[in-house]
Amino acid sequence: MSKQEQILPKSFQTHTFGCKVNYADSMHMEGSLRSVGGYDVPVDSGVSPETIVVNTCTVTQAADRQARSLIRKLSRKHPSSKIVVTGCSVVHEAEKYQNMTQVHRVVPIVKQSSLPQIVGWEDVEHQNPMPVLADSKRTRANIKLQDGCNAYCSFCILPYIRGRSKSIPLSELLPQVQHFISQGHVEIVTTGTHIGAYGRDLDPRLRLSDALKAFLSLDKDIRLRISSIEPSGITPDLVALVQQEDRIRPHFHVPMQSGSDFILKRMNRKYKASSYHQKISRLARSRSFMGLGSDVIVGFPGESVDDFEQTRSMIEQLPFTYLHVFPYSERPGTKSVQFKDDVAPQEKKRRVNILRDLSAQKQKVFLQSLLGRSHKVLFEKRKDHDGLLIGRSEHYAVVKAKGNDRLMERELEVKFVSIQNEASDSMHIIGEVL
Ligand code: SF4
Repeated sequence: MSKQEQILPKSFQTHTFGCKVNYADSMHMEGSLRSVGGYDVPVDSGVSPETIVVNTCTVTQAADRQARSLIRKLSRKHPSSKIVVTGCSVVHEAEKYQNMTQVHRVVPIVKQSSLPQIVGWEDVEHQNPMPVLADSKRTRANIKLQDGCNAYCSFCILPYIRGRSKSIPLSELLPQVQHFISQGHVEIVTTGTHIGAYGRDLDPRLRLSDALKAFLSLDKDIRLRISSIEPSGITPDLVALVQQEDRIRPHFHVPMQSGSDFILKRMNRKYKASSYHQKISRLARSRSFMGLGSDVIVGFPGESVDDFEQTRSMIEQLPFTYLHVFPYSERPGTKSVQFKDDVAPQEKKRRVNILRDLSAQKQKVFLQSLLGRSHKVLFEKRKDHDGLLIGRSEHYAVVKAKGNDRLMERELEVKFVSIQNEASDSMHIIGEVL
């Protein structure tokens, strides 16, 4: 241990990459460490935690590299801390992590619930697969409804990493939701790697809408947000529930990936562009202001200019409020590597830029439609340079407003006054708290 380095026993820190499922997993691990007396050490507190958990993501090769670079950085900063690595990248590149001198233990995803035992804070295996949860902030709490995926999209590594879809029974989920409510969390985000498949593997079989109804029945003030959901999950019963229930946030993220049937087939997506179009149109009509995001992969092998134009045209027609646009890159271990990556990098860049511009235009149109009215906003932090509070509206738009710290971690009515940083990644609303 270096002279100045102070280690507090049973202290920990978590660093999480990737999607909301990983964040939900991190919350479980934090909860299980706290349940045996562990406590978290803030990143810039000047003391070194006894254990550092790095929860990795492997969605791209860049994500793998970022995780390894963070591990090296953390090890330089806290040479006496034990670094434990887990998450998707560990499944994919276990050896690389095992060979890193900075890494104390590699923990497979399926062993995450035994973390207290693995780090030596508990002698016996943790009996409860869903340990007591807690979160230092009382804003959003992520709850994982299922893990894994049976879809095997040709570009995606996830089914090989997390296995087949496995739903968590309501008997385990309801106490967690109850716990979040009792802790005063303003919003509960239901997550999963293929959340629309929730309950298909349970006996008796359930649907996502059944789980949502069960959560809603627990508390009249509960607020639910549904995280990224595949098109197959946008079912008539779900749309009907969203239409009736304003305790479900009017915000959906439904990956489209392409508007060309030829490319969708090559991606092994099991829907046609026309059915995606229909579902999204219905969903958008279910509420008066709906935040609607999507993921699009550009330059997938075999994507002709005409295929791309079909994607562009569908995006133009649908009421998206933002897009995440990714240029295709080969991911070892996935089916799509069998196709020749035949769209030139410059052409991919051109297509990406076109869709990102379109996304900015759509975002601006949506934000303009919100101006002059009041909407619900949850403020989470304060920005240093201008001192404004920053939060998200019910539709997931970024909102800034003047106000004191007491306004944080509460849902407030905010009048939307203007748009700032138009046509940039940091476009947001300026509001006035009512
Ligand atoms: S639906 Fe497709 S993209 Fe989504 S996790 Fe499953 S395989 Fe991956």
